[in-house]
Amino acid sequence: MAEKGRQLDLTSSAEPLSVGQSSENPFLGVHFACCDVYSRVYANRERSAYVGHCPRCAKRVQFQVGTGGTDSRFFSVS
Ligand SMILES: [Zn+2]
Repeated sequence: MAEKGRQLDLTSSAEPLSVGQSSENPFLGVHFACCDVYSRVYANRERSAYVGHCPRCAKRVQFQVGTGGTDSRFFSVS
């Protein structure tokens, strides 16, 4: 867990969290090239990744969430 003393730094921070700023479940727009259909892929419970399936063939897709990644909200998978 966190080191002692680090908690003071955390609690003194006025920076808002970059994730979970609203109650809405974030999602990405994904174009499934396998079936040429568009669908939304929602974040998982931990919001560590976006996981979804092609609405037609159930192909599974997953996008990891991380700092330094793309800000794009739209992806195409094949
Ligand atoms: Zn498909």
